[in-house]
Amino acid sequence: MSALSLHPAIDNGIKPGSDAFKGGTLVCKCKDNPVEVTIDSQSAHNHACGCTKCWKPAGALFSVVAVVPRDKLRVTKNADKLAIVNKEAPIQRYACKGCGVHMYGRIENTKHPFFGLDFVHTELSPQAGWSAPGFAAFVSSVIESGFDPSRMGEVRGRLKQLGLEPYDCLSPPLMDAIATHTAKASGALR
Ligand SMILES: [Zn+2]
Ligand SMILES: [Zn+2]
Repeated sequence: MSALSLHPAIDNGIKPGSDAFKGGTLVCKCKDNPVEVTIDSQSAHNHACGCTKCWKPAGALFSVVAVVPRDKLRVTKNADKLAIVNKEAPIQRYACKGCGVHMYGRIENTKHPFFGLDFVHTELSPQAGWSAPGFAAFVSSVIESGFDPSRMGEVRGRLKQLGLEPYDCLSPPLMDAIATHTAKASGALR
């Protein structure tokens, strides 16, 4: 059995974020004219994600993805290299046409529970201090990318060892936030 690598940013333990951190830049992996995104905010809800839509570095089983307020994010260099991966998806992921890295994901549906938040990968930042991953979402979905289902116990055990509680959807606070949004929209909650 090969050694289990979840993601380079968490395989050797979780680095804590800094309470004083106020934001920074994300830079794609192009050697020439990289895309740069500037974020004037700390990130929130950082987590490992097993879905097949998030960008993952080569060899990683999970992505590490967080959110920031969309009005705090702007593309500051080489915006012309960005293209939306799938315009029909609820989250429009802006990928670099040169290196394939997803620089940010944006929700345009104002009724979406997470409208107003952009999805980002803080591992693309040269600065340290971004909020640390706190849980693992869509863990069972790694099977959809071809991972051996018989090793899922090993995956969940390793996530727990790292302090990332494994969930097969989002974490309970985020699932509650989505359900509350839906209930308010339907009038079941006021
Ligand atoms: Zn690039
Ligand atoms: Zn994902």
